[in-house]
Amino acid sequence: MEKWPVGVFASIDAGLGVQLDVVRELGIKTIQLHTPHPQSRTPEKAKEFLDKLAGYGIEISVVFCGFEGESYESIKITAETVGLVPKATRAARLAESKDIADFAKLLGVDAIGSHIGFVPHDTGSDEYKEMVACVRDLCEHLKANGQRLHLETGQESVEGLLTFISDVGTDNLFINFDPANLILYGIGDPLGALKKVGAYVRSVHCKDGTATKGKPGVDWGAEVPFGTGEVDAEAFLRTLKDIGYDGPLTIEREIPQEPARQKEEIGQAVSLINAIKAKIL
Ligand code: MG
Repeated sequence: MEKWPVGVFASIDAGLGVQLDVVRELGIKTIQLHTPHPQSRTPEKAKEFLDKLAGYGIEISVVFCGFEGESYESIKITAETVGLVPKATRAARLAESKDIADFAKLLGVDAIGSHIGFVPHDTGSDEYKEMVACVRDLCEHLKANGQRLHLETGQESVEGLLTFISDVGTDNLFINFDPANLILYGIGDPLGALKKVGAYVRSVHCKDGTATKGKPGVDWGAEVPFGTGEVDAEAFLRTLKDIGYDGPLTIEREIPQEPARQKEEIGQAVSLINAIKAKIL
């Protein structure tokens, strides 16, 4: 496979990614796909979708989970609503994650991605142990499908993430590294973190951000076009090279409400990544 194929985060009928016709217009050949709605996760739809992708010459690397009721409105609301951590929806979302994995299998995709939520920091607490058991349950389902789980980096510290992966203890739990999230959530230096978790990185988001001027970890930073924020794009790719990562570089730009601008900025990110690839590969 080509090293570092440029990809983009895409959507069919749910999520914040770009639409497939835009992917095609941009000449991009690999995508991460936000899971379609439950009613679209059928064998018939999978076949229809695969035929369309084959026609476009596009492959899917990862199917990303997303759930009804999630909101990234503020860091506090994110903690309360996102992923498998919120207790009220955990069982239903665990079951749905398995359904998404089974749909991904129909698409021939061997990894699902998920922002599981803010894992409790106290590793001795019942809440933490319950999350370990929940993610282990999901990983075992994935393993039977021949699939991996890629945890989206978010609010966890490097040490917290590595401890969690070790505590889950399955051999199919990895990381989708999003450097911007470490800035947006106020965790800190993304490239230092990338070096430490490098052995677990199996997919990445090329996303950028600026830190909050308010309280880190309480107030959001701002997501900005890749290459214009606090993620040093060339240093990010050099670090990926150093850790031996050679998978897709998947651009994520979460402004579906402005499709023309989204397409233009993703096009600029493709040019930037190709220029850096030409320089350092
Ligand atoms: Mg991301």
